[in-house]
Amino acid sequence: MSTLAQPKYPLTSHHQRASRRPLLHCVRVHFSTTTTSTTTKSNSNDKQLVIETRLATPPIVVTTATTTANRPVDNDPSLRSTWSHRAWVAAGCTTVFASLAKSIVGAANSHLLVEPILAGWVGYVLADLGSGVYHWAIDNYGDGSTPVFGAQIEAFQGHHKWPWTITRRQFANNLHALARVVTFTVLPMGLICDDPTTLAFIGVCSGCIMFSQQFHAWAHSMKSRLPPLVVALQEAGVLVSRSQHAAHHRPPFNNNYCIVSGVWNEVLDGFKVFEVLEMMLYFKVGVRPRSWSEPNSDWMEEIDVPSQIIAK
Ligand SMILES: [Zn+2]
Ligand SMILES: [Zn+2]
Repeated sequence: MSTLAQPKYPLTSHHQRASRRPLLHCVRVHFSTTTTSTTTKSNSNDKQLVIETRLATPPIVVTTATTTANRPVDNDPSLRSTWSHRAWVAAGCTTVFASLAKSIVGAANSHLLVEPILAGWVGYVLADLGSGVYHWAIDNYGDGSTPVFGAQIEAFQGHHKWPWTITRRQFANNLHALARVVTFTVLPMGLICDDPTTLAFIGVCSGCIMFSQQFHAWAHSMKSRLPPLVVALQEAGVLVSRSQHAAHHRPPFNNNYCIVSGVWNEVLDGFKVFEVLEMMLYFKVGVRPRSWSEPNSDWMEEIDVPSQIIAK
């Protein structure tokens, strides 16, 4: 069992968004009865208008009734894999490997080599771009009530608050959501398609997207706890590096969204692609991205939380 010490500051999540506006000046008007006069016009027992200026703290507005109990704790059951998670990851892996196997067999039969390899490389590169666009979208728009993506939006918001939990999340628990998407979308494509080049693209791209959450978890892990091969791949730029992803979790929280190789981060951030998209969306539909908000407790990592976990 584990227990948590009291947090240093009040906790709020995007479920529990507190209004913290500056102190407001409130003018309170009331009548009071006096027994002595203070001016020549005042008489005993006259009703005198008193204008009293007060500093008032506005009430905290809780938009959704949740508690700090939402915060995961060490050995939290919500971080463990269930048999359902494992089944979805198995289905996703089978889907990816079936596409790749079909591509290899087709390539061998048709004596194709260069095209499927190039297609696989393009799939790997575009998977990084896809991970960045998806991550940017769910970091900035929607909330827990958003259809289809609500759970993912909540999960990524929670990740910004408690990044350390991803390193404690079990493998299938971390991958099952993307594995489910891959199974539903890629399996039919793999069954219908017979072209080895297309299958190589589909297999590699979907595989990288499905495992992006594992690459993401490695980017949060300490170097000393990672397998040497993973560290070598991170340092070679094949997988998103720890330093690059760490920048995503620092203010202003609007860069380094890509979590496969991270190769697109420099391009997207350098050309301010997401900032342009945010402006376009704002002027077209009037929706502000979360990253425009002053960095607040919804984005800030509770860096003192891990140290509060005391194993009994
Ligand atoms: Zn994020
Ligand atoms: Zn992260």
